[in-house]
Amino acid sequence: MRHLFLLALTALFTAAAPAAAQDTEARWSIAIHGGAGTLDPDAMTPARRAAYEAALQNALDAGARVLAAGGSATDAVKAAIVPLEDEPLFNAGRGAVFTWEGENELDASIMDGRDRSAGAVTGVKSIKNPILLADTVRTDSPHVFLTGAGAEEFAAEHGIETAPPEWFATEPRRESLERMKAQELSSLDVDHKFGTVGAVALDMQGNLAAGTSTGGMTGKRWGRVGDSPVVGAGTYADNRACAVSATGWGEYFIRVGVAHEICSRLRFLRSTNWLTLGNRRVPSGETQAISQLAADAVMNEVKELGGDGGVILVTPEGHALYSFNTTGMYRARATSEGVNEVAIFADE
Ligand code: ASP
Repeated sequence: MRHLFLLALTALFTAAAPAAAQDTEARWSIAIHGGAGTLDPDAMTPARRAAYEAALQNALDAGARVLAAGGSATDAVKAAIVPLEDEPLFNAGRGAVFTWEGENELDASIMDGRDRSAGAVTGVKSIKNPILLADTVRTDSPHVFLTGAGAEEFAAEHGIETAPPEWFATEPRRESLERMKAQELSSLDVDHKFGTVGAVALDMQGNLAAGTSTGGMTGKRWGRVGDSPVVGAGTYADNRACAVSATGWGEYFIRVGVAHEICSRLRFLRSTNWLTLGNRRVPSGETQAISQLAADAVMNEVKELGGDGGVILVTPEGHALYSFNTTGMYRARATSEGVNEVAIFADE
């Protein structure tokens, strides 16, 4: 027993080997989200539902096309997130929520699981697609995280597309801010759901990537930053474990370090075949069950602290999974094995 314990400890503190080579032919997989929250089935008209489903399918297809053509996981993540940022239904890019001062301040992050390179921006106001700026921070700067005016200056130097304030501002989001102020409501009361967008992908080279983009929460002030641009909280990718993108009440996701926490549990479990998760012994080949349990356990911690929301994840084997503690999450997934699904409510 002592011997086994020492073996496990050695595995824990030694960098695990890169993900094992795929045992079948190269596969790819992608999952996306457009936010989680308290979704009311009665308020969802057929037309509204169709609009959400079409937007999710469109983004999923854009990411899946990149992967099916042999493209990289990071390119697939960007390809899926850009149309979601451009779609006013979601709280990212165009359609972002308003700050207390009546502006749209955008956050985004992206991570490549191959080398754990990461890029993030927060508080930008003129960047049409913040996910593209975050990726340029990753590839073309010596830094990981840029804020506000400095991030915009970096964007200008790198020819990143900008848009005027009117591009981002939409009437429903402005009304939410006004209602929040007039009725002294919290952002949770007026948002009902978190409309952040994200994507996670596994490419045919076996690399993982994750990305997240958001406007944050309605009425945010004092330079508030949520989890979405925080690497380890809203976004994390590590080829040895998984790729995760989160949506939810950001303060709780930061406190739990959700995305990194899920990945580190999986990395640990993968590096030691005999470990159990909680009280349940998980047979070593059942990677899907292990991954789902790890994500559910971390989301439970968020719930225990009082937070809500959800995550999407993709594993090195190509499992595309969700875990959320809300009544719904706008989500979709596709794999080279023929999975192609869009879903909204929890029971779908
Ligand atoms: N997590 C985001 C934040 O706290 C909100 C969201 O998911 O919509 O900024």
